[in-house]
Amino acid sequence: MTKPQRVVVVGGGITGLTTAYSLLKNTDRPLDVVVLESSSRVGGLIRTSPFAGLDAIDEGADAFLSRVPWASELAHDVGLGTTLTSPRAIGAHVWHNGLHLIPSDLMLGVPANLKSFASGNLFTLRGKIRAAIEPTLPRTTDTQDCIGHVIRKRFGREVHELLVDPLVGSIYAADTDNFSLESVPQIAELMNQRSMMLAARATRSKIKQSGPIFESPTSGMQALTDAITARIHQLGGRIFLDSAVTHIEKSADNSYVVRCAENAHTGDAIVLAAPAKHTAPLIAQLDPSAAQQLSLWSHASVVMLTLAVPRSQWKHSLTSAGYLVPKPDQRWVTAVSFGSNKWAHWRTPDDSMIVRASVGRDGIDTHSLTDDTLVNLTLADLKHHLDIDVEPQEIRITRWPDSFPQYRPHHFSRLAGIEASLTVAAPNVHLAGASYRGIGIPACIQQAHATAQVILES
Ligand SMILES: Cc1cc2nc3c(=O)[nH]c(=O)nc-3n(C[C@H](O)[C@H](O)[C@H](O)COP(=O)(O)OP(=O)(O)OC[C@H]3O[C@@H](n4cnc5c(N)ncnc54)[C@H](O)[C@@H]3O)c2cc1C
Repeated sequence: MTKPQRVVVVGGGITGLTTAYSLLKNTDRPLDVVVLESSSRVGGLIRTSPFAGLDAIDEGADAFLSRVPWASELAHDVGLGTTLTSPRAIGAHVWHNGLHLIPSDLMLGVPANLKSFASGNLFTLRGKIRAAIEPTLPRTTDTQDCIGHVIRKRFGREVHELLVDPLVGSIYAADTDNFSLESVPQIAELMNQRSMMLAARATRSKIKQSGPIFESPTSGMQALTDAITARIHQLGGRIFLDSAVTHIEKSADNSYVVRCAENAHTGDAIVLAAPAKHTAPLIAQLDPSAAQQLSLWSHASVVMLTLAVPRSQWKHSLTSAGYLVPKPDQRWVTAVSFGSNKWAHWRTPDDSMIVRASVGRDGIDTHSLTDDTLVNLTLADLKHHLDIDVEPQEIRITRWPDSFPQYRPHHFSRLAGIEASLTVAAPNVHLAGASYRGIGIPACIQQAHATAQVILES
């Protein structure tokens, strides 16, 4: 019998779990797949728990993009297809001295036509005129790889500050003045044409013909990582919890020894699916230069406060999916989701409103704040933004330290250098996950499949 090839996956988030599942599912060869997870649960940044009388309210991600196939296909593959639901199409707001409806004709904040910003009073007259001339400007050549720089050049300060930065910032907890344009493909692709507005219009009209933008299992996002975990076990893979990898050594036969505090696992291929900052020390012996560069990766931290607000304290007029707060207007809260408006299945037994408020982003660390302070600051912001005094019946605070890797300008060339170095110093050691080629769940799944394929082909 052929000796099984051994693969060790470090990190049991969506990336590590999907890599293990994809490896086991897509081969007939004998394969020994081990996932090592430092915490006492799998799922990483995906977590769902009971709240306000409901069984499953997400503590982190509450949906995945379904206009790209990877997450949706995986959900169907692991048996969750019939449970998928989409948010109600009820629009969302930006808070800028009051709530302003986010125009529907945008590509991640980039206006697709004049009416996206000409009507309403989100922009000043000067801001509207500046944005309107975008199609007449010569093509912008981007050498800085910086979203803020390009958007200001094309549309002026207001479109950047009030639309693009809040929308991109809400996905990446980012400051778009220090964030790679290339790593946000929806915006980067618009640069291929002379006018970004006309390019956005063409893209939007294609998108309009397709189905829902987001999906989620009705039992919460953790249903996805739980279902993948079950499949890994069925296919003979092994998952070890409370197994923090401390470092990796290369053996004389070109295999690797992956060391945890109390045991070790040998692999012919290794997948590093933990965040870059955590991965750096693991490869210090294998490739000191790659380790040093990974140790410089920035990660932003956020706190998610979930509140159950009695319906009597809620304003009837607040019927949208929530709002974003642009940087110049930010005090603490950066985004608020009106969960019970957004999701039909987030209806509590006593009909309270589930609200999720995000605090913190790149450049603002909130982790030194106590729980009481976080609650007080959040309630004060809600009062300031919505003019309501809320006394939540239930509050859940989820701290997500270092959860959002920051793709600094020239991210991809830096990553290419690290991977080239690793290929030579440590062949068959692969990087995958949110720190590298996309932070969204579909992008993590895509990376996992691609990594599994490379391993199976080698
Ligand atoms: C608040 C919040 C909201 C979000 N909302 C959305 C959303 O709506 N839609 C969306 O698509 N994305 C969303 N995201 C992003 C998405 O959830 C993450 O980018 C994705 O889940 C990351 O998966 P991952 O497997 O790459 O990393 P992680 O989930 O970070 O998993 C890495 C795992 O590695 C483990 N680990 C670390 N060090 C070691 C070690 N030394 N040894 C062993 N294990 C180790 C960690 O414990 C962790 O479990 C959100 C993220 C957050 C924080």
